[in-house]
Amino acid sequence: MGKKLYIAGIVIYLMMILTACNLNTKAKNSDQQQIFKFKSSIEQYANGKISYEDSFKFSEGLVDDVIRDFMVKLKALQSSKEHYTKGTKAYEAGRAIESYKLLKQVIQEDVENYASAIRTMKAIEDHYLDTANQMAKGHFYDEASTLLGALVDVSVNSQLIETKTAIDNKNKEMVLYTGDVRHIFFHSLIAFTELAFDGDYMEEGYNYWMTTVDEFKKMLDEMYKRDFMLVDIHLLYDIEVVDGKRTLKKKDIYLPKGKKPLILSLDDLNYYDYMENDGFADRLVLHNGEVATDTKLPDGKHLIARDHDCVPILDVFVEEHPDFSYRGAKGIIGVTGYEGILGYRTDDASSPTYQQDIADVKGIVKRLKETGWHFASHSYGHINVEKQSLKRVKKDSNQWDEEVGSLVGDTNLYIYPYGAAVQGHDEKFTELQKYGFDIFFGVCAYTSLRFDSGAMLMDRCNLDGYRMSKAPYQLVDLFEVEDVYDTRRPPFH
Ligand SMILES: [Zn+2]
Repeated sequence: MGKKLYIAGIVIYLMMILTACNLNTKAKNSDQQQIFKFKSSIEQYANGKISYEDSFKFSEGLVDDVIRDFMVKLKALQSSKEHYTKGTKAYEAGRAIESYKLLKQVIQEDVENYASAIRTMKAIEDHYLDTANQMAKGHFYDEASTLLGALVDVSVNSQLIETKTAIDNKNKEMVLYTGDVRHIFFHSLIAFTELAFDGDYMEEGYNYWMTTVDEFKKMLDEMYKRDFMLVDIHLLYDIEVVDGKRTLKKKDIYLPKGKKPLILSLDDLNYYDYMENDGFADRLVLHNGEVATDTKLPDGKHLIARDHDCVPILDVFVEEHPDFSYRGAKGIIGVTGYEGILGYRTDDASSPTYQQDIADVKGIVKRLKETGWHFASHSYGHINVEKQSLKRVKKDSNQWDEEVGSLVGDTNLYIYPYGAAVQGHDEKFTELQKYGFDIFFGVCAYTSLRFDSGAMLMDRCNLDGYRMSKAPYQLVDLFEVEDVYDTRRPPFH
């Protein structure tokens, strides 16, 4: 009996062990299945098919040690996807560097997002390279280097570093320019020669003092080919205070090797009444945010264009040839006031369009200043300062200040009408300086830059029919007259 019981005990014990084993095996099998499901759910999550939570659910109840590696992978994917979402948002908001930093943390296992992250990073790199190269062409070396530097700090793309180094080296290659500075000037361009040269009493004046659109474009091409480069007038001097007085002093000018500085100015950008219907533009306007001209055609229709006068033509030329301008410099716009400015009759407060005209002019002035143009006084009434009385000069300057200065802002540039310059101890010269002018422009074929009584004086060469016909030899450094001369001009007398 005792023996039987003993055997039964063993049997029961064995059965218990077997059952336990069986249970254990069953448990192990179901764990394996869950682990497999968890693993494949991670793949689905990597491919963006399910959410993090849906994948995480499969890990519940599993022993941490067993699924440690899978959990690491799941967390890495979660972090990658978060970086991708934030990086994409930053990119759309225009925060490129922040976006690049975030997208760089998207991992290859994140199948859903990796390719897209790489594409966006490449787009950021390309945009930075293009922008920096374009800036460097316009000689914005420091700005281009800083721009690329920000991306170089967060990127391993060697092309970025190479481009930045090349730009830094170019910046070091700037050389002192020791020659004369050429200063050229124009009036409004003749856009339609058949209207300007129509045999009326104005024809001769236009033939003498104006330049045609074709000539201006060819001149730009020639000067560009000859390594001229537009520079800002304010690069030519330093300001010092001598005996308590603001005093302009000559400043060394550094340019890319081989380049020659060129200053350009425009006289009488007023679009006077007398020019109406004579083949000139009628006014400047803003068109798609850029400065263009509005021309009233003989049939009464209006033509908006960017190739009918100096301002838009030069703007377009510099857009296409950024290396023609040192740091975006364009030129100086000289305006009188007696018939308003830029083609708007801002002199007549009783005009029904007065308020609108003022608002329009302010918008155009703002855009011109943003795009490298400066304004100069050309006196209010186009007066001959040399011949007029001190009293008249005073009155004229006041009027310019009130009606024109209020629109174009403060300026220290003064273009003498008729080139009739006063200087030195002339009381009219002292008077003009009281209005804040201390850079004065006269007319002469060759530019002589002088510093006198605290001011800077510079002559300018008119590139018009008169100069081209009478003294082509004075222009040979700029272009050959026969290459640019408009054969539609009437003969010279
Ligand atoms: Zn003038």
